[in-house]
Amino acid sequence: MFKLQNYINGELVAPNSNDYIDNYNPSTGKIYSLIPDSDSSDVKAAVKAAKHAFPKWSLTPKEKRSAIMLKIVELINKNYDKLAEAEAIDNGKPMWLAQKVDIARAASNFEFFATAILHFASEAHMMEDKYVNYTRRDPLGVVGCISPWNLPLYLFTWKIAPAIAAGNCVVAKPSEVTPMTAYLLSEICIEAGLPAGVLNIVHGLGPKVGAEISENDAICAVSFTGGTSTGAQIARVAAPKFKKLSLELGGKNPNIIFDDCDFDKMLATTMASSFANQGQICLCGSRIFVQRGIYDKFKTAFVEKVSKRRVSHSLDSNAQQGAVVSKSHMEKVLSYVELAKEEGGTVLTGGTQVHLEGEYAGGYYIRPTVIEGLSFDCRTNQEEIFGPVVTIMPFDTEEEVLMMANSTEYGLAATVWTENLTRAHRIANELDSGIVWINCWLVRDLRTPFGGTKNSGVGREGGFEALKFFTEPKNVCISVG
Ligand code: NAD
Repeated sequence: MFKLQNYINGELVAPNSNDYIDNYNPSTGKIYSLIPDSDSSDVKAAVKAAKHAFPKWSLTPKEKRSAIMLKIVELINKNYDKLAEAEAIDNGKPMWLAQKVDIARAASNFEFFATAILHFASEAHMMEDKYVNYTRRDPLGVVGCISPWNLPLYLFTWKIAPAIAAGNCVVAKPSEVTPMTAYLLSEICIEAGLPAGVLNIVHGLGPKVGAEISENDAICAVSFTGGTSTGAQIARVAAPKFKKLSLELGGKNPNIIFDDCDFDKMLATTMASSFANQGQICLCGSRIFVQRGIYDKFKTAFVEKVSKRRVSHSLDSNAQQGAVVSKSHMEKVLSYVELAKEEGGTVLTGGTQVHLEGEYAGGYYIRPTVIEGLSFDCRTNQEEIFGPVVTIMPFDTEEEVLMMANSTEYGLAATVWTENLTRAHRIANELDSGIVWINCWLVRDLRTPFGGTKNSGVGREGGFEALKFFTEPKNVCISVG
């Protein structure tokens, strides 16, 4: 059985404990590799390597850091299909999706920040002719990056790339549920000539590896993406140590459809925004509010399309939807369908496990599910499900839909469908949300701020926001009078 290894001080190494965790293929339900069950001693070794590498890396000219990162991009592109297949097998998503989204984005994350750092300028503030202020932006030192399983390499590199571009050294932990592409990235970093200790990847469980990253005094900032309760746990540990924190957390995003929308475009995009990546994207719209004038038309067309969606294993090129990431996650998602029924909901399509045949019989497949008849404030409509399950609800007025859309503890992303430009701006203004898409979904310009309000997080990633997070401003004031 293939054993993944940690990447510490430029080398691939076994965990100190020599213990391993089973890694499952969600498409088959079978164990197919072993993950280091690292502990705090492995994290400490990674921190030591990062501390040692920091002075040199932080003083390496940004053009040179950029060139090494562009070499990583080249190698990601060279290994494109291998990475996409690994991601699909590890996560359960269709391989075409890993090709189109995950690996493409991992390459562009490195490329974007390798070039962004060349344009990241200091600010200067003149005080008449007497004083000049300039603001240095220095790297922080050793930083921690912790990422989830839904977009494994995509979100891992979204943190690592700005951190190392800005001159920091990193101790990173991918999700133990989907560690494979992070392991392949360590091989790529070695081949690209990234100096030892600049990036260290420690595999293992959250309460062991993640907890040590949050706690370790030599790690001065933590960039985390994952669930809201894990984010709260990290904040409890890291905040009293005054570490910088960037927390990208859960969501329960509204998709608001007005009756004047471009119906066909809305319908096609709503299929994707509901079920892409098995509904396991923090930006998926899980609560669909439809204005009453087109509610029945939408319901009929949507349910028909959803019921035809092909669920299959990740290597089936015709799969529109793959397996959800784990058995426990499948059980959690299906338990929400039962809860929805108890809360008075009607399952219009889906709601059950899909059983494939042959070697895929043990896989974790769920039929895409549409539920109606629920109140906006029931648990099904308030709690994050993070699977291929959406609810549909009618509304009459803007005030009513805004109240329902803003009623959850979350505020990550929202989608609005209307041809009325004034209304679109008005609604965007009133939504409690870090991101609003109007007549589109998941369109990402990497320069824009990314993140949520309320319990969806603290801080923003993306563009210069990320470079600001990974640097410390220092103002220098000079008398020139
Ligand atoms: P999770 O919180 O269970 O795990 C995320 C990471 O944190 C994993 O690497 C895990 O090992 C680690 N971890 C667990 N316990 C820890 C601890 N005590 N200390 C430190 N680290 C710990 O989340 P998940 O199930 O992997 O991912 C799904 C969640 O991520 C969903 O809630 C989803 O909305 C969220 N998410 C948010 C965004 C965003 O940008 N806002 C993007 C993707 C996913």
